[in-house]
Amino acid sequence: MTTLLVRHSSILVTMDDHRREISDGGLFVRDGFIEQVGKTSELPETADETIDLTGHIILPGLINTHHHFYQTLTRVVPAAQNGNLFQWLKALYPIWARMTPEDIFISTQTALAELALSGCTTASDHLYIFPNGSRLDDEIHAAAQVGLRLHASRGSMSLGESRGGLPPDSVVEQEEIILKDSQRLIETYHDPNPGSMLQIVLAPCSPFSVTPELMRQSAALAREYGIHLHTHLAETQDEEAFCQQKFGYRPVAFMDLLNWTGTDVWFAHSVHVNQQEIEFYSRTGCGVAHCPTSNMRLASGIAPVMEMRRLGVKVGLGVDGSASNDGSNLLEEVRQAMLVARLKAGLEGASLSGVSAPPLMTARQAIELATRGGASVLGRSDLGSLEPGKCADLFALRLDHLEYAGAWHDPVAAVVFCAPGNVDYTIVGGKTIVQDGQMKTLDLPVLIEKHNRAASRLAAEN
Ligand SMILES: [Zn+2]
Repeated sequence: MTTLLVRHSSILVTMDDHRREISDGGLFVRDGFIEQVGKTSELPETADETIDLTGHIILPGLINTHHHFYQTLTRVVPAAQNGNLFQWLKALYPIWARMTPEDIFISTQTALAELALSGCTTASDHLYIFPNGSRLDDEIHAAAQVGLRLHASRGSMSLGESRGGLPPDSVVEQEEIILKDSQRLIETYHDPNPGSMLQIVLAPCSPFSVTPELMRQSAALAREYGIHLHTHLAETQDEEAFCQQKFGYRPVAFMDLLNWTGTDVWFAHSVHVNQQEIEFYSRTGCGVAHCPTSNMRLASGIAPVMEMRRLGVKVGLGVDGSASNDGSNLLEEVRQAMLVARLKAGLEGASLSGVSAPPLMTARQAIELATRGGASVLGRSDLGSLEPGKCADLFALRLDHLEYAGAWHDPVAAVVFCAPGNVDYTIVGGKTIVQDGQMKTLDLPVLIEKHNRAASRLAAEN
């Protein structure tokens, strides 16, 4: 048994049911789980390890609900800088097709380092392209060295261009192989227990890159093993037109037809959903990964997140793949979520100051999306807040950073309103991953050099 004592933080944000914010706060951890949270004076005085966080704010670890780690290799590719989703994908598919297992490994560590340095403690990733012998195992092994919790999606594409899909035939797989590999991964890696460091998710890529049959069979397989299902949905108007044209349904109705609804399903984006569809999510328990930066980058639109929240839909945040962001800073995504929700409210009349003006998202609501919201989307009742019995996943920021100068009136809101920098501490299951702003588990300069070499090689062969 090992114990950890974290103490003397200026403010500890619990995000518990009462949303307690504790001054001179701390917590006592045993074997990776929180045993006590409260004022430093109420906690035990010793532990195997003690961290003094005087002058810091502590928050629950952020949870990322949508990413494509491998895309860190194709940020800012000139041919994909100024297109919408379908144009962007068409420019990038051929480059992605050249990736190797080593590229998957390197890009996973790069993305996870960025996430950890922005306060993330649990990351979901959606890998749906497996060229040149790449496997989800490459990502899993790379992540194990970093130390963040991982929900690794066995993604897939099976509907190539010749059969009416968007991706070239060269990057799609046979459905039989996809399902067999999915089963292998679940049986080899999936850990459903509290404190789990690794879960497997099944995630056919999108309605325009897989067949309805693969969606159905993936759902059946996931339910056999009790694991979650994930896909992109209602991201763009092009997708909506594609579904109407090819299947005769709007995207959400199409998912319902394929048995892709329930508390074990979450969709990335859901920008283009109408009122009935939001109510349907609420009724059936489907979750949403809101990715505001990506939605702006690809001109997809603004997801109706405040309305989703009002109706009790589970909403988490995602940085999305690094080729449509082009970064993995989850704290920045919290800020973007707040700002874009306000822009939407403004477009809908909030600037009129009338009594019926739509409410503005607050900083604390934005933090809630990335903590409690993300935990509910991923089905993790052991994550999302700092309270006894939950995993000891947290991050801390020094309040004397330049970007918080003049913002001490409300340090909790400052974390969202002010420019996001790197965090000072990230702790996962009681283990320190980031200390004094530095990654403890990776040699970053070496990783960055390898990453840049791989990215140049992929692009050069274009
Ligand atoms: Zn995505």
